[in-house]
Formats: sequence, C-alpha cells, structure tokens
Amino acid sequence: MLRMGGGSARMGGGGAAGFGDIFGSMFGGGAPGGRRGGARRQTARRGQDLEVEVTLSFDQAMAGAEVPVTLERREACAMCSGSGARAGSSPRLCSACDGRGSVTHDVGGFSIPEECPQCGGQGTVIDDPCPDCRGTGTRVVERRIRVRIPAGAKDGTRIKLKGKGGAGMRGGPAGDLHVLTRVMPSAIFTRKGDDLVIEVPITFAEAALGAKVEVPTLDGRVAITVPAGSQDGRTLRVPGKGAPKLSGKGSGSLLAKIRVTVPSSLTDKQTEALRAFSDLDTDDPRARLFT
Ligand SMILES: [Zn+2]
Ligand SMILES: [Zn+2]
Repeated sequence: MLRMGGGSARMGGGGAAGFGDIFGSMFGGGAPGGRRGGARRQTARRGQDLEVEVTLSFDQAMAGAEVPVTLERREACAMCSGSGARAGSSPRLCSACDGRGSVTHDVGGFSIPEECPQCGGQGTVIDDPCPDCRGTGTRVVERRIRVRIPAGAKDGTRIKLKGKGGAGMRGGPAGDLHVLTRVMPSAIFTRKGDDLVIEVPITFAEAALGAKVEVPTLDGRVAITVPAGSQDGRTLRVPGKGAPKLSGKGSGSLLAKIRVTVPSSLTDKQTEALRAFSDLDTDDPRARLFT
C-alpha cells in the first residue's frame, strides 16, 4: 500500500511493494506447463493500492462532502492506449514461444518449461515502443480527482474506492484507492460512536422545577424536556438526532448532558429570594457522608 499524506501525494520510486506485486508474483510470470493459447497474458499484474488522507471539518463529515485529492497514480499511457507500442503500431505475437510466454527444453527426455527469453514471458514483442511510456503501457501521472465522502465519516474511517488506485499491468485489474478521513473536532458536539454528546447548561431553577429547553442539532433546534429534580450530569436521549450512520441507514442519538450552572452574581432581590428558599430547605445533601 502506498501511503500519501495531506491530500497531496508523492509516489516512491517503486520501493513500496503493494499487494499488486505479491499478486503478480503469485499468478504472473510464466507458470510452467501452461495451456496453449494465442494471446495469453503471462504477466498480468494488479495495480498498486494507494492511500490518501483527507481532513474534513466536523460539518463536512456529518453532511458528507466531495473533496479534491491530488495523487500520483499509474495510469494507462494516453499516447498508446496502454499497448506499449508506438501509436499506429501494435505488439506482435512472440514468434519464439508462439505467444505462450514459455519455451520447453528437452533435458534427458524430460520437457522442462522455462520463461521465453525472447519476450520475457510476456507472449508479445514490441518492435517499436511508445516513446511516452517506453513500452510499458503505463505512466505515472499527477491527478486531481474528487472523492465522495459519505455522511457520517469518522476520524480514522477508511473508505475503499475500488479500482481507483494504480492501473494494472498487462491487463491486470487496477488497484484500489483507500481514503483515510481525519475529522476536525466540533466546538459543540462530541462523537461517541454514532451518538453525538452535547453539554446543555441549565439554571438551578430549571433543574429543580423542570423546563423545556432548546438545543442545537445537526439540522436545526429541538426542544427537550428537563424533568423536575434533574441532577447535574443527567443525560437525555433524543433518538435520530445524532451522527448519520455510515451505512446510510438512519442516525444515532443526540445525548444531551445536563450541566447545572450556579449564578456567579446575584441581585439583592435574588439573594433575598434564595435565602428565603434556603430557610425552607430541610434536606441535608451531606447526610449520606456521615452514616
Ligand atoms: Zn505509451
Ligand atoms: Zn516469447
């Protein structure tokens, strides 16, 4: 897997051995005793898997976004349409192996197959190579593509775009492009799975008496009912108002965490009222500490 950072990418000089290389060495390269057949592709090789990292704002991640990504990717050569032969010409079947890619030697009565020295196991020979790709049929080009990020992407989500990686060689399939999403934090919401946690400050009076308070969601406000006698830290669940699920099926919940606030200054009248309240309050909140 070739790793790219920060939305733009560099490609190492073939140092990163991708899955394609392993695949290629397993299934390519002139297997001995192959069937006869004209245009066998002896060295079909899957293209390289690429990875690119994109950074999204919290809102982009929630809504889904189409983001531009710059990457260096091996693609079929535009000049020769991937054939490797100069435009106007085409590769010819190797006469030494008749296109099979392997030739046999008789050693003491045994037929030992070996890679055709004429075509290097490819079955075809290019007499007049394409000058753009020097006969390889592919070129590494810098591409700016737009990548669709589905709603609900998390920090660290890997999205696989099948076939958007490097081009395959000699008819091999293209590799995949993996998009790793980084999501900036929100000033208001904290993500917990598919749920969104929001801290909701309420006054002591609202907590004690109960209240209907408005809280923001991803799409407008909702009114939540704080039951009378709610303690600090109580969490109220609003189903369906959390983060969109990556599966595309619904959303998590909004978890409204009540934070009881204490006024930092009081008017004379408020002080008077609170003292009157306090005089009537017979509960000892610390009774449990001394049992
Ligand atoms: Zn070419
Ligand atoms: Zn050959």
